[in-house]
Amino acid sequence: MAHTVTLIPGDGTGPELVEATRRVLEATGVGLEWDEHPAGEDVYREEGTPFPERTLESIKRNRVGIKGPTTTPVGSGFRSVNVLLRKELDLYSCIRPCKAYEGVRTRFPETDIVIVRENTEDLYAGIEFEKDSAAAEDLRRFLEELDATARIREHSGISIKPISVYGSERIVRSAFDYARANGRRKVTAAHKANIMKFSDGLFLEVAREVAKDYDDVEFEDRIIDNLCNQLVSRPEEYDVIVLPNLYGDIVSDLGAGMIGGLGLAPGGNIGTEAAMFEATHGSAPKYKGLNRVNPTALMLSGVLMLRHLDEREAADRLEAAIAEVIRKGERVTYDLKPSRDDPTAVGTSEFADAVIEQFGAA
Ligand code: NAD
Repeated sequence: MAHTVTLIPGDGTGPELVEATRRVLEATGVGLEWDEHPAGEDVYREEGTPFPERTLESIKRNRVGIKGPTTTPVGSGFRSVNVLLRKELDLYSCIRPCKAYEGVRTRFPETDIVIVRENTEDLYAGIEFEKDSAAAEDLRRFLEELDATARIREHSGISIKPISVYGSERIVRSAFDYARANGRRKVTAAHKANIMKFSDGLFLEVAREVAKDYDDVEFEDRIIDNLCNQLVSRPEEYDVIVLPNLYGDIVSDLGAGMIGGLGLAPGGNIGTEAAMFEATHGSAPKYKGLNRVNPTALMLSGVLMLRHLDEREAADRLEAAIAEVIRKGERVTYDLKPSRDDPTAVGTSEFADAVIEQFGAA
């Protein structure tokens, strides 16, 4: 039976990346029906909203989607489509595998980690108080009444960092479930529990409890700064890493850098009602319409989607074909060439052709 998948081309370089990805996904032979809907800057211009109701309805109906990047213009007044999506669908778990494929120039060739980032809490909860606002002043006074040592300097902006038992438990479970389903041996929880005892400390405490239910997967924890240090000195020692929102955001980009750049880092945002797959990178607007950028990150997001749909054999074949094209290093985009102006670099669409031909050769 065919899977119906919501397809969101996005804007900037999104449509060309999505088209290349759609073609390689179809070449796997898996039955896929595309339910295409817009999101982002282009539809905002036409319809006055970056995220039309019909797009949201489609994802709710199909429960799975793949999305090109969408621009969030600074000061535009429209909210990030990605934030809206995560909120509307409670996509609480962001899974970002970072694997260094042979043929990519990287100082960290042994990297093969999966970052699992909590998506809904922490300093990203959006609970903020502007400097000198009445609410910020009330909050400063209230805190001082509660605890005389809880002094906040005047003229301070304040962001609140909530971390709950509920949010921590489900993200840590999602990391262990991913580890189990994908034959991973270890989960590392990263935190700063030594300093933030009641937020990160809670995250760690819950992680330790959840780990007891998964005795087939090893568990350890690391303080976030130490984790960053160790990731760049001994990446091979890490496997699945689960983190609260802010650390997860930062370590995701660190991971992308370690495996050779943003063009290679895939992702999936997963909740109980739906899952949306998309690259870690943004819309790279300066390359819009130039057929230049690397579709690997979105194609690998497609690999994650196939695994999510339990099309594991097709997912493995697609990943192997992408890896082989990268290993050969001939028909790859500029960012995977030894120099950025290498004349032998191919475009987004020709990279997809090379992956599809590789299927035939395998
Ligand atoms: P970006 O990731 O779009 O681009 C930064 C640079 O990274 C590019 O100029 C390019 O040199 C490189 N790059 C990115 N993707 C690449 C690819 N596939 N192949 C080769 N090189 C690639 O980041 P930005 O410029 O900070 O953001 C642009 C817009 O995208 C912003 O509006 C931002 O809000 C949005 N954004 C969207 C998403 C998303 O939709 N998931 C994620 C991040 C940023």
